[in-house]
Amino acid sequence: MLIFKRVKDLEDYLKKAKKQGISIGFVPTMGALHPGHIALIDTCRKRCKLTVCSIFINPTQFNDKSDFENYPVTIDNDIKLLSQAGCDVLFLPTVSEIYPKGLVQKKRYKFGLIANILEGSFRPGHFDGMAQVVERLLKIVKPNQLFMGQKDYQQQLIVGLLIKKLKLNTRLVMCPTVREKDGLAMSSRNTRLDAASRKLAVEISKTLKYAKAQLKNTKAEIGVIQQKSMKKLGAIKGGETEYFEIRNAKTLEVPKRSSEKLVALTAVKIGGVRLIDNMVLN
Ligand code: AMP
Repeated sequence: MLIFKRVKDLEDYLKKAKKQGISIGFVPTMGALHPGHIALIDTCRKRCKLTVCSIFINPTQFNDKSDFENYPVTIDNDIKLLSQAGCDVLFLPTVSEIYPKGLVQKKRYKFGLIANILEGSFRPGHFDGMAQVVERLLKIVKPNQLFMGQKDYQQQLIVGLLIKKLKLNTRLVMCPTVREKDGLAMSSRNTRLDAASRKLAVEISKTLKYAKAQLKNTKAEIGVIQQKSMKKLGAIKGGETEYFEIRNAKTLEVPKRSSEKLVALTAVKIGGVRLIDNMVLN
């Protein structure tokens, strides 16, 4: 696996690959890699000739300073995992490579409602920061295909809008959420859960499954399912539910009918660690 730290070096390398007609697949990450990330690499390798992964903990998308400071860093292990997975290129830039003009130039995107609700409302500025770094990375890598996880459902919808807005020649591929045996969605932040919180964290995916079963089996109203699910999450000891919402799976608007394609999305803090998860319900 080749490792590039400078934008210019990576661009030169990829230009040559493009000239030879090699298809480029891209998997952007913030590192602390786990099997969820590696599944993206696997899918990318199946669909593209050259697999490029980036590891960059983007300061502009963290609205919580301590979350940024405590974000896990396991770079040696990440390099090992990526090599084993057959990743071709790792892009490992510094903050000044990505933001040569400094962090003050934070861009404001106008994605509308979809970026202001749910994660957007609990993490103000998060999606602007995320879009800013994804735009920068996409303009450097210019991939034919971009691989992102369903785990960050709202994020991948917004990246879809970004690609449209910028008229980029990149196809976004959403990959399913990889889970632990007990159902907890894999996340770099899971390593920060203590043993007791880790046990309780299973309630998040259990509640999503409960909502799915309620919709299928009882035909209960969406509002009622939402309330019951909130109650279940509320019973987590030391947990703090930020939201549990059932929304239209394409627009994230409040659904008018249960026949619409629906997704349940939730964010819960357990033992001080903020966890998100979602499930398509029908
Ligand atoms: P992150 O490093 O958390 O920014 O995530 C990088 C990419 O990996 C994003 O597209 C995430 O949606 C994806 N991802 C993170 N966790 C999972 C998971 N458990 N299953 C599938 N994809 C994931």
